[in-house]
Amino acid sequence: MLDPFDGSAGHGGLVGHGEDRPGAASQAAFLSGGGPTGKFQRKGEQSVEKMSELRQSYALLLGCLIEAKSSGTLITTKWQYNRISSPTYVRPENGDTSAKMECPRCKQIFTVRVESLKKATVKSRTYTVVGAVLAVSLLVWLPMLVHFGGQTVDEDAASSAILTVGSLVVLTAVSLFVGLPLYLSGRKYSGIKKLRLVKSDGSVSMLTRGHKLP
Ligand SMILES: [Zn+2]
Repeated sequence: MLDPFDGSAGHGGLVGHGEDRPGAASQAAFLSGGGPTGKFQRKGEQSVEKMSELRQSYALLLGCLIEAKSSGTLITTKWQYNRISSPTYVRPENGDTSAKMECPRCKQIFTVRVESLKKATVKSRTYTVVGAVLAVSLLVWLPMLVHFGGQTVDEDAASSAILTVGSLVVLTAVSLFVGLPLYLSGRKYSGIKKLRLVKSDGSVSMLTRGHKLP
């Protein structure tokens, strides 16, 4: 297989490899930096996604806006994701560190915060587990809601029935709108965050116009 960006310490510096969408970019990351194991190949697309999975060394994915079309109120954007690797991209032992990268397309310099492997792993697992528990608890709340919501009660029991149903509605909503997103964000949590633009005068800006992390 052609392997121009093998992520090894040999080539040095910053390299980028562009694709149109995050999925393709992770696939590119997989194809280019996946290493010798057959593990990822066997497990297919899902494991490709998990390439952002946590290791001591890492690669950065930077989205660069290549097109924004507006038709009426709808704005469609097209992002190019570049994979940027460097031998210096190693997570700290503890806490956070910052890393620099250059957008291969527009040559702007950015920084990100990178968490230690331990910290990122703990966060990823916590979000995944708590999210999964919340999401699965939907299987408890929803049938209860259907059961209690469909009951007719006499006036004496009405207020407690309303309270019960109300609580179940809240629990169902939390499971659905907090649990599921939490689970998904835990699954792809990389511990790489806080993209900042380094301006020409050396100051750092939160406005990263046209750039984002995946
Ligand atoms: Zn760019």
